[in-house]
Amino acid sequence: MIDHTEPSTLAANLARVRERIAAAAVRAGRDPATITLVPVTKTMPDATIRAAYDLGLRVFGENRVQEAKAKATALADLPDLHWHLVGHLQRNKAKTAVGLFDVIHSVDSVRLARALSHHATDADHALSVLLEINVAGETSKFGFAPAEALTAVPMIASLPGLTIEGLMTVAPFVPDPETVRPVFRQLRALRDDLARGCPTHPWQHLSMGMTDDFEVAIEEGATMVRVGRAIFGARRNG
Ligand SMILES: *Cc1c(COP(=O)(O)O)cnc(C)c1O
Repeated sequence: MIDHTEPSTLAANLARVRERIAAAAVRAGRDPATITLVPVTKTMPDATIRAAYDLGLRVFGENRVQEAKAKATALADLPDLHWHLVGHLQRNKAKTAVGLFDVIHSVDSVRLARALSHHATDADHALSVLLEINVAGETSKFGFAPAEALTAVPMIASLPGLTIEGLMTVAPFVPDPETVRPVFRQLRALRDDLARGCPTHPWQHLSMGMTDDFEVAIEEGATMVRVGRAIFGARRNG
């Protein structure tokens, strides 16, 4: 079996993803520098993250608090390493999450936002958050329904210690990424509406696009793409 995370493969995968990001940005008349790649390392071993760090990556996305905490501990010797949480967060892990992550992409309830606000305020820390939106209304997915976000945002926006940096979505899994273009377009329109109603927060980010659909997401305005398999190869588990 080919080890996709062998350093030379990793370098080639990363270069290819960066080229594809740049090409999609150019197609949309956007500056590629305005798009942040968030490599998603869930299930990948510490050695793979070290190899990615050696290639210059400094931000990594994880979907579980415990797994991210173990990795952050094992890699504590690496300076300037930053973690983003991209998966669902349980409220009882909010305190750990506040201590660990620079950005939480997956705020999906007012109760979770309150818990994060409480712990961020305690830690005297301004926590950057994105609100996760379940645009397509899939029952298997977390996130606010778009209409629900309209009522939740004023409550979340008033909480101390939180800065709403924008919205995040996970599009439905489909064979042709063109199918989910309207999902990305709707996320952007919702962000624009919410930002108009609540100009005290920055709202500059749209975290949308994964291995199968990041180019379409960039064409529709993504500022953060969360890419796992295209960089690190197939996941071992989970
Ligand atoms: C796993 C995961 C990703 C990366 O998925 P790939 O398809 O491997 O690029 C992005 N976002 C979230 C929320 C994830 O859980």
